[in-house]
Amino acid sequence: MPRPPIDVPENGMIDEPGLRVGLSEGLAGARIILAGRYLCGSAALNPGAYQLRAEGGSVVLLDARAAVCARAQRLLLEPADAAGCAFTLPENSIGRNFHWQRTASQTFRGALTACCFEPGVLTLINHIGCEAYLEAVICSEMSPRSSAEFLKAHCVISRSWVLAQLQHRSHPRAAPDAAWTDAASHVHFDVCNDDHCQRYHGIGAVNAAARSALAATRGEVLVGDGGVCDARFSKCCGGITERFSTCWQDVDYSYLQPRPDCAPGTAEFIPPLSAEAGARRFIAARPAVFCNVGDRHILETVLPGFDFETSDFFRWQVTIAQDELRGIIARKSGCDFGDILRLEPLARGASGRIRALRIVGSKRTETVSKELAVRRMLSASHLYSSAFVVDTPGAGPVPNSFILRGAGWGHGVGLCQIGAAAMAHAGHDYRSILAHYFQGARLERLY
Ligand SMILES: [Zn+2]
Ligand SMILES: [Zn+2]
Repeated sequence: MPRPPIDVPENGMIDEPGLRVGLSEGLAGARIILAGRYLCGSAALNPGAYQLRAEGGSVVLLDARAAVCARAQRLLLEPADAAGCAFTLPENSIGRNFHWQRTASQTFRGALTACCFEPGVLTLINHIGCEAYLEAVICSEMSPRSSAEFLKAHCVISRSWVLAQLQHRSHPRAAPDAAWTDAASHVHFDVCNDDHCQRYHGIGAVNAAARSALAATRGEVLVGDGGVCDARFSKCCGGITERFSTCWQDVDYSYLQPRPDCAPGTAEFIPPLSAEAGARRFIAARPAVFCNVGDRHILETVLPGFDFETSDFFRWQVTIAQDELRGIIARKSGCDFGDILRLEPLARGASGRIRALRIVGSKRTETVSKELAVRRMLSASHLYSSAFVVDTPGAGPVPNSFILRGAGWGHGVGLCQIGAAAMAHAGHDYRSILAHYFQGARLERLY
């Protein structure tokens, strides 16, 4: 499927790009239900249930009576009628490697490629236009009851983010290194359908509010530093947004600079959070910022149901017993640290997120770098954020437990979803929301 490169045009516009979205990797087989007629090579497939299986180096498509319909290293299932056809994966896994992991039935539009890149392993890739992809993303990432301006802001950043991934695939030398983005880790497709990239959980929840937000912003992206912005977002910054380099590669962008999540001139005194004492004071406080939302109604309009399992994320606390922490760190690192004696933050980003954490054990001492690695190392799944301070109650060289007091949910870079929802609730339009979180970026219509 040919794609135009995603350069910011001097004048004129590009065609709407097509995307290759990875739906499933690493399984030996998958059930699939076709609603509408599909074409697979010379075979015409009637609506109904089918089975895809990796056998040796080939993909085999079987019908409900287990008769072979097609067999090849790569099978393309194309809808006979793009608007009317859809396919369902009844047992697809979502939230992979996160605490909300589960399987769900997901329905997609567009074409499907089933590939066998290594013997016995099936990879499923959805081919879909950018706007149809975004329609499902907007509904997967947040509640369709979100306010219109919040949805519009999210349309622009989700579009910018995914087009920035294509931009760096078509111009790899523009990237500082091969692992410039998370999506760069995908070899066979542009983005995956899960939290690792952006949630794309199918058309189940698509609704009129998302459609009209997309139509109002069609083709609009944020542009800065000579290209489409790598417009990051997370659930809740905790009070200050974070730098790119705290979380990913050691580069920073002019439009992703840390800033207090409040209207200009209204910030209460915020101590430098890179110093331990400043971080401690900040995390103990509840500053009046956009994402300090007490109104459950606003949260309900932002978070889809399954995120609501965790609602106290602006300031949070976790207590981990010595034995438990010792076990978790051993499992995550593959090393026996012995008793965990101290957790020492060595470096923090602008939002207080720990960039480097030294784990001092009775048998071993190591330093963990980058925000997500820190979050994952200390929890069976992962902590809400790496913006936390550590206390060890009681005396003695070996603590019985560790109390982590933290702020925010997610990496904190770019748009803060809870803060943006609160801004929209307070009457800001999407342009002013984007200008707040991506200072210096321009809004442009690419197609
Ligand atoms: Zn991904
Ligand atoms: Zn925030």
